[in-house]
Amino acid sequence: MTRHSDSGIVITRAREHNLKDVCLTIPKGVITVFTGVSGSGKSSVVFDTVAVESQRQLNETFPTFVRNRLPKYEKPEADGIRHLSPAIVVDQRPLGGGSRSTVGTVTDIASLIRLLFSRAGEPSAGMSTAYSFNDPSGACPACQGLGRTVQLDLECFFDRSKSLNDGALLFPLFNVGGVQWTLFTRSGLFDNDKPLRSYTKREWRTLLHGGADGEVKIELATRMGTQNVTYEGIVDRFNRLYLNRDLSTLSKRTRDAVERFTTDAPCPACHGARLNQAALATRINGLGIADHMAMEVTDLIGVLEKIDHPLGTPIAQAAVEGLRRIDDIGLGYLHLGRETGSLSGGEGQRLKIVRNLGSSLTGMTYIFDEPSTGLHPRDVHRVGRLLTQLRDQGNTLLIVEHDRDVIALADHVVDMGPGAGVHGGRVVFEGSVAGLRGSGTLTGRHLGRTLPLKTEVRTPTGHVAVTGASLHNLRDVSVDVPTGVLTAVTGVAGSGKSTLMSEVFTAQHPEAVFVDQGAIGANSRSTPATWLGIMDTVRKLFADANGVPAGLFSFNSTGACPACGGKGSLTADMAFADPVTTVCETCAGSRYSAEALSYRLRGRTVTDVLALTAEEACAFFTGRGERGVRSALGTLVEVGLGYLTLGQPLSTLSGGERQRLKLAGHLGGRGGLYVLDEPTTGLHMADVEILQRLLDRLVDDGNTVIVIEHNLDIVKQADWVIDMGPEGGRHGGQVLFTGTPARLLKHRTSHTARALRQGLD
Ligand code: ADP
Ligand code: ADP
Ligand code: ZN
Ligand code: ZN
Repeated sequence: MTRHSDSGIVITRAREHNLKDVCLTIPKGVITVFTGVSGSGKSSVVFDTVAVESQRQLNETFPTFVRNRLPKYEKPEADGIRHLSPAIVVDQRPLGGGSRSTVGTVTDIASLIRLLFSRAGEPSAGMSTAYSFNDPSGACPACQGLGRTVQLDLECFFDRSKSLNDGALLFPLFNVGGVQWTLFTRSGLFDNDKPLRSYTKREWRTLLHGGADGEVKIELATRMGTQNVTYEGIVDRFNRLYLNRDLSTLSKRTRDAVERFTTDAPCPACHGARLNQAALATRINGLGIADHMAMEVTDLIGVLEKIDHPLGTPIAQAAVEGLRRIDDIGLGYLHLGRETGSLSGGEGQRLKIVRNLGSSLTGMTYIFDEPSTGLHPRDVHRVGRLLTQLRDQGNTLLIVEHDRDVIALADHVVDMGPGAGVHGGRVVFEGSVAGLRGSGTLTGRHLGRTLPLKTEVRTPTGHVAVTGASLHNLRDVSVDVPTGVLTAVTGVAGSGKSTLMSEVFTAQHPEAVFVDQGAIGANSRSTPATWLGIMDTVRKLFADANGVPAGLFSFNSTGACPACGGKGSLTADMAFADPVTTVCETCAGSRYSAEALSYRLRGRTVTDVLALTAEEACAFFTGRGERGVRSALGTLVEVGLGYLTLGQPLSTLSGGERQRLKLAGHLGGRGGLYVLDEPTTGLHMADVEILQRLLDRLVDDGNTVIVIEHNLDIVKQADWVIDMGPEGGRHGGQVLFTGTPARLLKHRTSHTARALRQGLD
């Protein structure tokens, strides 16, 4: 640690979440990597303490007038946090901006390309053209130059944990009991009691876009007599009723509701280019603006370098500089027009790194959340190079990581633990990487360990085929996926793994269940207890013990705190900034009314019970008639989430925790076909072992499990490997190899084979 510039960030007695009076000095001007099992408290230190306090202190420096318009940050629970510098968080949360946000807009390269066309474009014969969508003579007539049109927002339209009968349709005009709702429940097309998240691909299609089986008539009794209505999917019906008509003819209430349940997507006429056909027809060296936006970054660099035009060349060079950075970080297979909403978390995070490298700020604190996510072992060094570059520009880097190669970059390591949740929250080691190796902590012990290759592989029970896959960069790919075994799908980023497995495969095999790290429980009230479906029983136990109605123990019903309506918090909309959320003072965040909290079950109130961890709750629910609750909780312990409390909002879970929670729901079944996209994201090497056991158990129970993975420990333990490549984007999209891990080892050109060989040395 020779790089120390000054004293460092000093944290005294931090207590956010599970932190147990953590005292820590984080050196400045160097890379500090935070390690530890999932749930040990890394994010609580780095994001919820350092980043939040930095933002809060920064806001304090503004005059009151400005400060009142900024988001409020609660002071983190700690005695002191000193010597902070301004912090920039580079995380995996989606890049904001909705569908207007593309790779080109978030990096500002799209505006350079537009500028280039306005200076150096050759208009098609006979037109003189404006290149600005703000000019009526340049704008696309279909969208008036907005580049987007309004569409129903599928993300917020449904509560997928509910069935139609339970109110899965959240749009108020489609509420349970209403006419619109009846059209779906009377159609005979759905099991009205089946939660939407269990729908097959085919049922989803029918719900959204109508049946593949031709016309379905629904008989409906109305005041005007019996009517025959033709079934329409939700999207079509919504478009017809609310979008494809003059909104001003609708009531204000309807308009507001429609607004809340819609987002915008690229205009089908100009594909988001916002320009009319004349502008789109303008060329530079034979290529139009839309061609530039649709070309892979690697190819676009070559095209722009050829531009020889007195006004155009300097602009093209500026664009090339930005494009090179995108290529350097391994995203050269993307195109500028790609919506950021369709990028994976890791891709989004790397784009944010690119944005920050363009700045000349120094003396900042950068905070990263697992920057190796989504990268093939071959490419981890690329992100490493950019991180050291940021450090050498005079910045402080705090990085949460599990990847051995990124940990190796650290000038300083903070290892959190020893366990997760209540069993963690302490610093178990601080010092150099070499020191960590010798420290004997869980991380230290795993660092030096390499797993052997699996040689005794399982025998497949059969296979399922993917045939003629031609989406994105795949060109007529066919491959057999063995059943009854664990298959790893590998390949460099952009080679086509997700396209093949999470899009084509799941479309061709609708029974396949895709278990990702994405959000669960669409509403803010979802908790592990509601997800496991044990709340009804818990409420009934409280009701029976006290002789009162069960609804009293629901904060969605009569038990809700009257002040916050059962939310536990109050949100104030701010004119200029993000909305501000504060804990409800009446119920102190418990969500329950005072009456609900006056009743007890074996000495505990309902909030006491919701504050129990799954482990503790297993020991609490031991009575007769509580076996179902106990066994549901047991699956949580089994997937390594025993430290979660029953009432912790699912929105506070990490991606890895969400994914394991979803897996918990599948334990005990057989004959299933599961696809998991990078399940090791966010997992410590010790968590990866738990995950591996879980996957093995699913397979041993008679299921087929397919994982898209870069983690070599998982690849080594697979029964079968499908390796994609050879590179990303246009240069990928092929199946390079299928077979056992032992046979892959001998492959001459595969990057995965090479990484495996290195990992075994
Ligand atoms: P890590 O980053 O090491 O995975 P975290 O700091 O995210 O761990 O979590 C530490 C503990 O705090 C875990 O038990 C987690 O479930 C809990 N936790 C995290 N966020 C919240 C929150 N917003 N509210 C309550 N508990 C939380
Ligand atoms: P991997 O999973 O191996 O990282 P992907 O399947 O995500 O690779 O990507 C394969 C190719 O398809 C890449 O060129 C990628 O940019 C492209 N691609 C992936 N998703 C989309 C999308 N939604 N729209 C356009 N192109 C996409
Ligand atoms: Zn348009
Ligand atoms: Zn309240």
